[in-house]
Amino acid sequence: MRPVVIAANWKMNTTPADAGELAATIASRTRAPGVTRVICPPFVCLQVVADALADADPAVAVGAQDVHHERAGAYTGDVSAAMLDGLASWVIVGHSERRRDHGETDERIGAKLSRAVEAGLRPILCVGEQLNDRDAGRAIEVVEAQLNGALTGHDEATLLNAGLVIAYEPVWAIGTGRNALGSDAAAMAEGIRAVLGRLRWESASSVPILYGGSVTAANIGEFLAEPSIDGALVGGASLKADEMAGIVGRAGVTAAARLSAHS
Ligand code: PEP
Repeated sequence: MRPVVIAANWKMNTTPADAGELAATIASRTRAPGVTRVICPPFVCLQVVADALADADPAVAVGAQDVHHERAGAYTGDVSAAMLDGLASWVIVGHSERRRDHGETDERIGAKLSRAVEAGLRPILCVGEQLNDRDAGRAIEVVEAQLNGALTGHDEATLLNAGLVIAYEPVWAIGTGRNALGSDAAAMAEGIRAVLGRLRWESASSVPILYGGSVTAANIGEFLAEPSIDGALVGGASLKADEMAGIVGRAGVTAAARLSAHS
């Protein structure tokens, strides 16, 4: 049975002065059995969020929003996987805003996956097409190329042991208020598992796949109604405790249904 995961990507929002309180408020308002919750604040807020969650609800995991593709060296301003030790247990890699603003290639994202796994971090690998790709009917081709580029050379068992999660985030839906249709996201989730099959993964069906792109409390149900979707990577709405309470509450319904279907 795949877990139900709700991961909050705070992007470049919050400061060490306010992040702890927000994390604690979200933690206390999102207690839903069976839902894996992750909060990914900016690097400089990791410590304060980790401390706040240790008090408020240690079941909420802390994630970083990125990690460098090298282990150490002359990379001014960057953060290595080893530096995250004790601060984060999850990490987002390949977010479209990093691909866009930092020129991250699929090959580099693959190296980030390696660094994450070596450091015992649970990776959320983001993939997703641009609007022109979707309009031209190329969405799955683009996502397949991203997956091939990032995953080729990786050992399936190593990534599965690390708890790899894939987030399908169509770029045109991120931060735009225009979410994908649940049925399109589900078709892509199935497409992603088919790509893993073509990469000769034997346990493609066990990889959790999240949807991301303008998820809110009002639309999360459309995605979680799809059996192939296992949760959400939430950006803007994850800064609002009310929204997170609604999103995780709905995720709890799916988690309970999955549990009873497997018992
Ligand atoms: C994201 O940051 O991954 C994201 C999906 O953002 P938003 O929910 O704001 O679209």
